[in-house]
Amino acid sequence: MPNLLLTTWHTLTCWSSRLLDLLYPRDCTFCHQPAGEDGYICQDCLERLSLHRNPSCIRCGAESALPEGHDFTCSECLQQPPAFERVFIVARYDNAFRDLIQTFKYRKGIWLTKDLVRYLVATYQLRIAEAGIAIDLLVPVPMQVSKLRARGYNQAALLAEALAREIHLPCNTRALKRVRTGKLSQTRLHRSERLANAKAAYRAARTKGLEGKTILLIDDVVTTGATSNACATLLRQAGAKAVYVLALARPFHP
Ligand SMILES: [Zn+2]
Ligand SMILES: [Zn+2]
Repeated sequence: MPNLLLTTWHTLTCWSSRLLDLLYPRDCTFCHQPAGEDGYICQDCLERLSLHRNPSCIRCGAESALPEGHDFTCSECLQQPPAFERVFIVARYDNAFRDLIQTFKYRKGIWLTKDLVRYLVATYQLRIAEAGIAIDLLVPVPMQVSKLRARGYNQAALLAEALAREIHLPCNTRALKRVRTGKLSQTRLHRSERLANAKAAYRAARTKGLEGKTILLIDDVVTTGATSNACATLLRQAGAKAVYVLALARPFHP
């Protein structure tokens, strides 16, 4: 869609959502009290969402079992450095934050996009932009076409597009393609098997313009890092200079 059309569409949807807010005030997703005008989670519930994580691996984002201490590089990343530079995670995948992401992902909760993107914007600003990492382009982790048809949306692409608008960066939702279904990244598999599985599930697609770019790969949940690693490998092979990863959450496996 040309830019002007997109802007017009965006303005129209903004106005129609404002009108809807007047007619039907928003309820908080958690406590069902009025949520205010700017999202679907009220201030009290926002504050109750625990964003705490233990110190983590500076490459893959895996959390340490110990709540105290400094960030570190885990033994897996030391032995076999991943294709991405770093994974940035907003919060641990548990409790209310997991409920929120599951509603967003499995219960067609696309109305939560704006609330969730706020966390991505904050993490991007505090940990990526502030650290002097200059991102050129956003790329979401793709979804298999059949699954996309069934669900109606790719949650990672929704997040990437909304984040791109907020931080004024371009977004290429077609750079990568998911070519195989099935559950990936089973934690019980050996790391090399997980990576081989993940690599077989993705292909590079429309990679024009990736050369020399620093890319921010967007996902909703990073489980073992195998998907991020497979996607980063493809982006690097397509000429990307560096790949960083930003995701909402990662489960904690003590
Ligand atoms: Zn609430
Ligand atoms: Zn690591």
